[in-house]
Amino acid sequence: MQLALPHQQLRLYYQAQLDHQHHLIGVEVLLRWAHPQRGMLEPHDFIALAEESGAIVPIGKWVLEMACAQIAHWSKRAETAALQIAVNVSLREFSQPDFVEQVQQTLAASAADPARLLIELKESLINLEPTGAAAKMRALKALGVSLALDDFGTGVSSLATLATLPLDQLKIDRSLTAGLDAEREPHNLLVAQSIIALGHTLGMDILAEGVETEMQRAFLQRHGCLAYQGYLMGRPLALEAFESAYLQ
Ligand code: C2E
Ligand code: MG
Ligand code: MG
Repeated sequence: MQLALPHQQLRLYYQAQLDHQHHLIGVEVLLRWAHPQRGMLEPHDFIALAEESGAIVPIGKWVLEMACAQIAHWSKRAETAALQIAVNVSLREFSQPDFVEQVQQTLAASAADPARLLIELKESLINLEPTGAAAKMRALKALGVSLALDDFGTGVSSLATLATLPLDQLKIDRSLTAGLDAEREPHNLLVAQSIIALGHTLGMDILAEGVETEMQRAFLQRHGCLAYQGYLMGRPLALEAFESAYLQ
């Protein structure tokens, strides 16, 4: 794993985020490992290992550099200039004492507009480090970066803490989205509806992950969730394939 980065085996895939009018509004960058023997590996095969070993720190730095370079590149084209690029940051990276400075330096070095960068944090992070996390999040917001809470609805976030955090977006976890197909299970619908209402009450945007069917998307739209990411909108793709699928 330590060698994946120096051996240039890491790749970034891009997954589209669309609004209710099918406009491309953003993209999430997702890590892949082009393993010389085992083929293209997905994060569940290596992210936990990278977090345990600490390899995620230099890897995360690379992901951020690549994302900022892409922001700067896309800022030169009218059709991509407004896109937000979402980057996943794990607890191990976020906990680095110089994480905020690193983000600042990376943005500056690539001349990327901070408003185009969205950092995704996991719900677990909020519970683990309530006070320190909030201060760091405010420092990131001060740079002009946006913040999202990933996989929301799977953990047991303190709602009182959630209300104090400077989050721009709640991402509804795909397990909740999946439950929206089972129309005979009214509790799934009620949970999704409540999360959307909660996010809106707290002034946050809501994006649903793992949207695979039009039924799920339509339910979400009816209840005020107007941003979607999932196989219905498209799978994560290598940059070239992404650009030819979504851009002119
Ligand atoms: P995530 O941030 O929640 O990313 C969404 C995951 O859901 C992605 O899995 C994506 O491929 C998958 N997905 C999207 N739409 C659908 C759908 O309609 N149906 C289904 N079944 N799945 C869908 P992926 O790429 O395997 O990534 C898994 C996780 O690995 C990510 O979850 C994220 O937590 C982590 N990860 C990915 N890239 C990075 C990275 O650069 N740094 C860090 N620290 N973590 C990363
Ligand atoms: Mg994510
Ligand atoms: Mg997620």
